[in-house]
Amino acid sequence: MTDAPEDAPEDAPGVVPEDAPEDAPSGPPPGGRSFLDALLEVQDMDTGIAQLEHRRAALPERQELSRLTDALKEAGRRYAEVQGARGELAGRQQELENEIAATSTRREALEQRMYAARGTPARDLQAMDDEIRHLRARRDELEDAELEVMVELEPLDSTSASLEAEGRALRAAAEQQRDALAAAETDIDAQLGTLVAARAALAGTLPGDLRDRYESLRTRLGGTGAARLAGNRCSGCHLELPSMEVDRIRHLPVGTVVTCEQCGRILVPAPAPVPVPAPAPAPPG
Ligand SMILES: [Zn+2]
Repeated sequence: MTDAPEDAPEDAPGVVPEDAPEDAPSGPPPGGRSFLDALLEVQDMDTGIAQLEHRRAALPERQELSRLTDALKEAGRRYAEVQGARGELAGRQQELENEIAATSTRREALEQRMYAARGTPARDLQAMDDEIRHLRARRDELEDAELEVMVELEPLDSTSASLEAEGRALRAAAEQQRDALAAAETDIDAQLGTLVAARAALAGTLPGDLRDRYESLRTRLGGTGAARLAGNRCSGCHLELPSMEVDRIRHLPVGTVVTCEQCGRILVPAPAPVPVPAPAPAPPG
């Protein structure tokens, strides 16, 4: 904690008379308060604005919507996978059916030729008969294969249907969550609008150099440019100041701008507490 030394640069920690700015604002802060009290209030508003902005970014509705969007994406991925597998099996089933049809056509043609063939050499009839038997066996094989394909298709069809239902439910929930998020954002935006306007009005009553200094500190020091001296502690860095320093600061002329030596923030002493007289010791006995 220090006063400004005589040769200190303008932005050095120290004493700046708050009531003598070059670019004086339109009027003093309302309510007969000091500029430093108004500055602290601006700081509180800035903290409130930052909290609202944080709350807006971290809204649970936003997180839930993001979770639903991810779940929907995952369901879509699984659905595409199942559709791919189904498509392959359906293609295989179609090939088998085509082959079964070709086999039947060939067999029927042979059978007709056999029955129509009078005087065909026995050797040729035997060959046709052999082929017909072979074609029947082949058809049985193909039909077994098709049955296997259909058995494989069944669970994919039910998975596909349940993924479609899941997708519908997720889309509906996401829609609801989008509405809830918009409502929550609107609510916070209204609060932000009010607070930002009030902050701008109050900040406009501060002397320009004090305001500039505050803004630059706030930007540099994580959103807090002005702190209270509460007891012996700076509310900006939460460090304690030596009692003698605190005492010295409290006796500076009202409105003197003091900087916390430890964190560099503008330090505003809280009003001195009214001393409470110690109770008289109880008489012995
Ligand atoms: Zn500090």
